[in-house]
Amino acid sequence: SSRFADVAQAPPDPILGVSEAFRASTSPNKLNLGVGAYRDEDLKPVVLSVVKKAETKIVGRAENKEYLPIEGLDAFRKATVDLLLGAGHPAIQEGRVAVVQSLSGTGSLRVGSAFIARFMKGATVYLSNPTWGNHRNIFGDENVEWKYYRYFDADTVGLDFKGMMEDLTAAPAGSVVLLHGCAHNPTGVDPTAEQWGAIADLCKERNLLPFFDVAYQGFATGDLDKDAFAPRLFVERGLEIVVAQSYSKNLGLYGERVGALVMVLNDKEAATRCLSQLKRLARALYSNPPTWGAKIAAEVVNDKELFDEWKGEMRGMAGRIERVRGELKTALDAKYPDKDWSFITRQIGMFSFTGLTPAQASGGRRVDNMTNKHAVYMTRDGRISLAGLNSAKVDYLANAIVDSVR
Ligand code: PMP
Repeated sequence: SSRFADVAQAPPDPILGVSEAFRASTSPNKLNLGVGAYRDEDLKPVVLSVVKKAETKIVGRAENKEYLPIEGLDAFRKATVDLLLGAGHPAIQEGRVAVVQSLSGTGSLRVGSAFIARFMKGATVYLSNPTWGNHRNIFGDENVEWKYYRYFDADTVGLDFKGMMEDLTAAPAGSVVLLHGCAHNPTGVDPTAEQWGAIADLCKERNLLPFFDVAYQGFATGDLDKDAFAPRLFVERGLEIVVAQSYSKNLGLYGERVGALVMVLNDKEAATRCLSQLKRLARALYSNPPTWGAKIAAEVVNDKELFDEWKGEMRGMAGRIERVRGELKTALDAKYPDKDWSFITRQIGMFSFTGLTPAQASGGRRVDNMTNKHAVYMTRDGRISLAGLNSAKVDYLANAIVDSVR
């Protein structure tokens, strides 16, 4: 018998477990709306044309496979901050941005979490309720205490702005607030520009540290600058911010693990010291980040022609999602006119929060019906990824939803 005989079975991941179940299904109608990964109209994964072009260029240079510095590839670090703040931003010129390339959004969040554990001892991280399920693991595994702030209002299928502000007002000074930069996951509900301003002011007043999770820049509106509105606004108002960036979705580099942890601070010396500590943390976690994806991202962002082409491809992806959103709403309106389905086209980004589990009491029963009866694979919180839907499947999905809601 093993010395590890007492190790309990871990539960399947609530999101990636859905893909496992989907692969195991033999239903001819099966539809994977679980994981947030972009698919084309044939529901096939996509490698962006700019990525292929960048890869060809990189291969042509026949570079070596040496380690990157702990903080990552310089050309990528420049590119990622340019993308976040806009090239030529004063914070960049003044050298008050600390940036480490890390293992996509998740790894960058984890480095941030480790930084909080080490240098903000006792601070609580406030997460939106609901949020991307992995946030709890990322902070919990570093023994950083986390709590929820109210975010989603099931009655209006919109933002509970009042509840959010009340909870953040009550948070102890020095707490961390995790904010989704745009296209909130799982709800697809973002604050308005005015509300962002009020949140920034509150963070300043209450001395809260905003920690932005930017996993969908370019995917909310199809426009990189518009989608960076919130973090840029906070910096403009003089707040120090921490940001975890991911290139999984906007460049489709999921498996390459490309991202960065960025700290925009008020003075250069603090940025230099924080960078040294981020490197110290990264050294023990994974030593240095992988090269390939960072080279691709740097090539695309730093080359004017590729950059412009990328913007077009991003608009294409965001546009396809918006189109199937509209088609789904139209189909549901036709099949079940007594219910207000307008939330589907109000929500933005990759996901729709269908409200299929409006109350805990339903115990995921409606989602079970979607999956067990209709082979529609989705997370138990009622989230569907519209990136996995095409026009041909809209009618099928709408029937499944109507059958499950009733
Ligand atoms: N944050 C949010 C809100 C996400 O939705 C995701 C991807 N599902 C991530 C972070 C991280 O993804 P990755 O590690 O692939 O960048």
